[in-house]
Amino acid sequence: MKFQTVLILVLLFILPQYISISQKKDANASRPYEEVAKQIISEGLKSCNSYSLLKDLSLNIGPRLVGSPSAQKAVEWGMKTMKDLGFQNVRLESCMVPHWVRGQVEEGTIILTSGSELPIKICALGGSISTPEDGIIAEVLQVKSFDELKSLGEKAKGKIVFFNRPMDPTKYNTFEAYGGAVNQRSVGAIEAAKVGGVTALVRSMTLRLDDVPHTGAMHYVDTIQKIPAAAVSTIGANLLDSLLKIDPHLKVKVKLSCQTLPDVQSANVIGELVGTEMPQEIIVIGGHLDSWDKGQGAHDDGAGCAHSIEALRLIKTLGLKPKRTIRVVLFMNEEFGLNGGIAYAKRERPGEKHICAIETDAGGFIPRGFGVGGDSVKYQSLARWSYLLDPIDAGRITRGGGGADISELGKLGVTTIGLRVDTQRYFDYHHSDNDTIDKVNERELELGAIAIAIFSYVIAEEGI
Ligand SMILES: [Zn+2]
Repeated sequence: MKFQTVLILVLLFILPQYISISQKKDANASRPYEEVAKQIISEGLKSCNSYSLLKDLSLNIGPRLVGSPSAQKAVEWGMKTMKDLGFQNVRLESCMVPHWVRGQVEEGTIILTSGSELPIKICALGGSISTPEDGIIAEVLQVKSFDELKSLGEKAKGKIVFFNRPMDPTKYNTFEAYGGAVNQRSVGAIEAAKVGGVTALVRSMTLRLDDVPHTGAMHYVDTIQKIPAAAVSTIGANLLDSLLKIDPHLKVKVKLSCQTLPDVQSANVIGELVGTEMPQEIIVIGGHLDSWDKGQGAHDDGAGCAHSIEALRLIKTLGLKPKRTIRVVLFMNEEFGLNGGIAYAKRERPGEKHICAIETDAGGFIPRGFGVGGDSVKYQSLARWSYLLDPIDAGRITRGGGGADISELGKLGVTTIGLRVDTQRYFDYHHSDNDTIDKVNERELELGAIAIAIFSYVIAEEGI
């Protein structure tokens, strides 16, 4: 073999391999925590313990509407679960919460001018007043927006105002589609009452065509007449829409027996792993413990509770000793006024400094990454850890993020972070009888917990 040939072979085959090995070494040196992240992934997927936690909460406690006896049981469950796992400083921090009860009666009926009656599936919106015992029977004014309602003015008087603007299916992010429609649910009763409407009937907030009404919070203001408000299933909404076209003077009957009782005391549930070097510096990870009274509150937000507890368990089980404190907070009443989130942020905590708060409240679906609120410096600092999440395809760190429970902390300058998950199925289940444990995939759920464990651990070590 000629020398030149040998040289060419060396250049072609041997040198690149050498370069590749040395690059790998450099890469490892510049990619700290890779080994720890691998361990967290492997430990999580081996046990999928988050699913056992969520199954326990969903089946043994079930739906846990704020203020209800089952919400109280959920608080006890949170305490016991975290104590059993050996978390430190497991405790309650109390807060007052509203107590609304749905009641037994929820009936919707379309009454055609011919006299024929067709039942439709409805449910009271959270916070609604009841109807009179015999219900409300009235003609229907269908609108797609508040502007349309205003322009129709007098025509709404004495009518059931039917808000039928669907979530926009062309949006990739279903939360964006939800955001574009949810004002009908939250303040539809106020807008309807302003123009003399007698009930607000709102198309369910889901992209799915099914016969299950989806509840959610609605509000009144003291200066405007309070009228009942109910959600109708999307199948019911479409039926009503078609029938109104051929029988515009048809009537709808709505019967609800819900009521608001005096506020009660409840609590956030807290447990932590105290930091070894800077225990006063806190990384909060959390979701909300309350749920609507439909389904089992599995995805919303039992999944977030299971994610948070499991994330800390993974860190603890692997014997990791983070420098800063990682604190699990199961917030009370995200759904109906954020009492827990507000109480947590308001509480005096002498000497403590919150580094960031991570919220998971988008369901137990495949994690994609994290959204980071606040300034670009904080974002850049956190985005550098994306390679640790890439092995589970959850390395998309984007700007803008947080969650309702931690929004009050955000106002105090704490960096807020939201776990981002695949959003396509979330509103199929959201706030409805469909939100049950069988809709949760145990590996998808666990991957969310793994993502939070990796991210919170590296922040606890490195700060932001
Ligand atoms: Zn939620």
